[in-house]
Amino acid sequence: METATLGQVKKTIHELDALFKPRSIAIIGASQKDLSIGNVIIKNLLHYGYTGKIYPINPKVDEIRGLKAYQTIFDVPDNIDLAHVIIPAKFVPQVIKECGEKGIKAVIINSAGFSEMGEEGVALQTEFLAIANEYGIRVFGPNCQGIINTDPQYKAYCDFTFTFPKPGNVSIVALSGGVGAFIMQSLFDLDIGMRLYASNGNACDVSISDVIKYYGDDDSTKAIILYTEGLSNPLEFMEVAKSVTKKKPILAMKAGRTEEGAKAAASHTGSLAGVDISTELIFEKTGILAFNNEEELCQVAMAFAAQPIPNGNRVGIITNTGGPAVIATDELVNSGLQLPPLSEKAKAVLQQAMLPEATIGNPIDVVATGGGQHFRSALDVLMDEDQIDSIYINFVTAPFTDTEDVARNIVEVSQLKKKPIICNFMTNMSLERFHETARILKDGGVPCYSFPTTAAKALGALYRYSKIRSREIGSPESFPEVNSKVAGAILTQAKKEGKSYLAADRVYELLAAYGIPVAKWWLANDVEEAENAAGNIGYPVVLKAESSAIVHKSDMGGVVINLKSAKEVKEAGNRMKDKFGDKNLKFLVQKFMPGGKELIAGVSTKPGLGHLVMFGLGGIYVEVLKDVVFKIAPVTQLEASEMLSSIKAAKLLDGVRGEKGINKEMIIEIIQRVSKLVTDFPMITEMDMNPIIAVNDKVFVVDARIKID
Ligand code: ADP
Ligand code: MG
Repeated sequence: METATLGQVKKTIHELDALFKPRSIAIIGASQKDLSIGNVIIKNLLHYGYTGKIYPINPKVDEIRGLKAYQTIFDVPDNIDLAHVIIPAKFVPQVIKECGEKGIKAVIINSAGFSEMGEEGVALQTEFLAIANEYGIRVFGPNCQGIINTDPQYKAYCDFTFTFPKPGNVSIVALSGGVGAFIMQSLFDLDIGMRLYASNGNACDVSISDVIKYYGDDDSTKAIILYTEGLSNPLEFMEVAKSVTKKKPILAMKAGRTEEGAKAAASHTGSLAGVDISTELIFEKTGILAFNNEEELCQVAMAFAAQPIPNGNRVGIITNTGGPAVIATDELVNSGLQLPPLSEKAKAVLQQAMLPEATIGNPIDVVATGGGQHFRSALDVLMDEDQIDSIYINFVTAPFTDTEDVARNIVEVSQLKKKPIICNFMTNMSLERFHETARILKDGGVPCYSFPTTAAKALGALYRYSKIRSREIGSPESFPEVNSKVAGAILTQAKKEGKSYLAADRVYELLAAYGIPVAKWWLANDVEEAENAAGNIGYPVVLKAESSAIVHKSDMGGVVINLKSAKEVKEAGNRMKDKFGDKNLKFLVQKFMPGGKELIAGVSTKPGLGHLVMFGLGGIYVEVLKDVVFKIAPVTQLEASEMLSSIKAAKLLDGVRGEKGINKEMIIEIIQRVSKLVTDFPMITEMDMNPIIAVNDKVFVVDARIKID
């Protein structure tokens, strides 16, 4: 990015401006054939009213769609900002070189036949990209649709699709052209204006992150819609997304999220992490609003396009019919919103202003005979109420009211932009007489929905974003007292010995070095040593067969709990030796911790992203219940406490039916210490602490496995 100073005004010239704000476009591979891409793009540019110059390039013809065609780009007498490249893949490297020589700053390669086509295509893509880098050309695509800029100053429709959006403030970025196009179409159908569009196909150079950063810096973009099927450089994406979501909402959807859990096989944290939950975790960590329903995403965009963000979760409802307000209330409450009672002052004003049959409260029912001035009084009162952050309206076009007057009053208050207003507008659009009412609301920027639940969900999303914007996840704790020297030595030693799993004694020493509390233990070489150790630890104890070959010790009779004497230890030890057919079996002797809650914490790794930290309900049922949550390391204190409150069984942690709750602070700290351990030592690829037993206001790890690379 370079900065030019124009007198007092500092103007930033963004390096993607040539792509999104081209003043001249060459179409390399322009064609006279009606249904070819090289023709459709010219048609679209002309039809949409592109304000710059269009230069069709084709060595064989003189004219395309009334525009003079040039044999080569060198014949074009002017500078060219952007070139569409629509030629067979094998000619692309040569053409990119020519673009470089011509001084073109950006190219959109619509042609296919590159990395999506296997090795040969990859080689071609690498080849042209190297040339582009050499000349400083930004490449969009290949194998892509292109971009659209609806700004009346440009009207750049550099795309071969068929929806001609009206200008607005929602910008779309989609890896898949098909999804991008239908999102654009849905916005169009909902009469939502669009600002910028980008669908970048193979994304060999200009990435989703680059586009989002550009949209973030674009003042006229108020909300961003993102569709992706995965992220090529998650760390870069996180960096960009984190800063953009503080400025404007990113509404996102990622496909391929179903299998989570279903595939989780039976052994450890790695499989509990499912196939691809990492994109969702990235969305969560960076404050992106995630949707799993594309229709809902588009509907919600309508609210973001026109309304301010609420300051809190308190909603006031105005309705002129009963039932829909009840439906809406359910959904609003589901979304975390509350309906506070009105102040005495507000009630007094409404008593004076409303019809006698109206209900004064929250919801305010102005009744079906209520007209414009009744809606207006209710709106004014809610705008003035300190304990109200947003307004939800149910407006049915009752045949005995001046519905246009109602609409005008809603619009007037909405345009103050003090608090967001969402409207569930119930009417019959096949009746001519309600068209004007609908038009007044739409033109006035009031988001109108045709179902109470949809409208409530939209308001819920505005609230979700308000929480995201003010959420400070903080920095990871440093825990300066941890003994990373000891930990490092343990890990290096294990690696030297060629181990992939640490032995039990090493595991517990490592945890202790990082301040993670473990139950008193001793690793005994034989039964006799186990008896002595049990005496030292204090009865009752637990005896465990120690062998890194065994994943689930208890399944194989390798765990005996509640041993109360040396005699019991001896018997249990000898039985185990027989069972495992191993005369030299070692034993882990451990303090028995009865009556606690069993929790699990662990770590898995995602290539390109790093460690995921996991927490949930533990014990032997973990694979069945799958009540676990993940976060991307490093995990902060806020994130760790969110993990505790977001498992399904969160209430169990507080204790139910007179039980005492667990020591949550200790668990929150353990999660952060684990996060620090794996961040300090990336060679740890997997970790399981199952169970962590929470008992008597204390917490102890009693079983753990650590895998290294
Ligand atoms: P594995 O997971 O290999 O089967 P664990 O060491 O986790 O073996 O033990 C299995 C179960 O035994 C635990 O889920 C827990 O219920 C119980 N258990 C193990 N160690 C203790 C202990 N020190 N105190 C209380 N219960 C324990
Ligand atoms: Mg276990």
